[in-house]
Amino acid sequence: MNTAANGWRDLPRGAAILKAGNAREYQTGDWRTERPVWNPEKCIHCLFCWVYCPDATIIVKDGKMVGIDYEHCKGCGICAAECPKRVTAIEMIKESEAAAAAKQGQGGGC
Ligand code: SF4
Ligand code: SF4
Repeated sequence: MNTAANGWRDLPRGAAILKAGNAREYQTGDWRTERPVWNPEKCIHCLFCWVYCPDATIIVKDGKMVGIDYEHCKGCGICAAECPKRVTAIEMIKESEAAAAAKQGQGGGC
């Protein structure tokens, strides 16, 4: 299976699970309409986002948050909601805004 080209449109009809652990093969992030943008300057590494993310897409290394796996993040916004209000290190933005910012060379990701 060519994982680079797989998106949600390539899922088998009926949502059949053909083998265990195949979720990683699908880039489920391509159905996202909003994306979380992480600000490492504000982050206090409490890892609430990691605990609550339903898709295990918060990337942690050596006990610290280091980024977000946008290939699998579905943009639910739970991480932003659970990030402590006093730091607000994750902001949800529209994918269209992220694409426009990327075109202008402003990033929009982490
Ligand atoms: S938006 Fe949802 S899926 Fe994406 S990182 Fe945050 S909690 Fe996880
Ligand atoms: S919840 Fe917010 S402050 Fe805590 S690790 Fe995640 S981004 Fe950082």
